[in-house]
Amino acid sequence: MKCEEVRIKINGLIDNELAESEIDALLDHLSTCKSCRAYYKELLRMNREMLRAAPPDPADNWYIDFRKRFFRKTGGFLGRLFFIGSYLVLLIYSLFQLFKAPNEDLAIKLIIGGIFAGFLLLLVVSIADRIKESKNDRYRGVIR
Ligand SMILES: [Zn+2]
Repeated sequence: MKCEEVRIKINGLIDNELAESEIDALLDHLSTCKSCRAYYKELLRMNREMLRAAPPDPADNWYIDFRKRFFRKTGGFLGRLFFIGSYLVLLIYSLFQLFKAPNEDLAIKLIIGGIFAGFLLLLVVSIADRIKESKNDRYRGVIR
């Protein structure tokens, strides 16, 4: 086998694409030819380097992503604030109106007051859980 032919087959050997029958002849040549053996070792080394190579750097448009994420986060926060805040104001206002009404039954006032108090408690607990959860988020910074 000529060295030129062997070097083509060495690539096949490294890529695991050689037939069993070709491997023996190739190994025979490698055991006798120093220069092909060096070529083989060099290819193996390069192959290992490529497998170890770090993934490519993030693209240059990170600042665009950052701006999008910033507005998305801020928008989401403000949206929640307005939605929950307005809802709370509405609840408190209607509760206040109910208790102010002179000819409403006290039992009705207490029952509806209890429903509102329960709702508010659940809301506060779930908001607190969300805040606690987001502080311990392992995937913080990962774009979902
Ligand atoms: Zn050779």
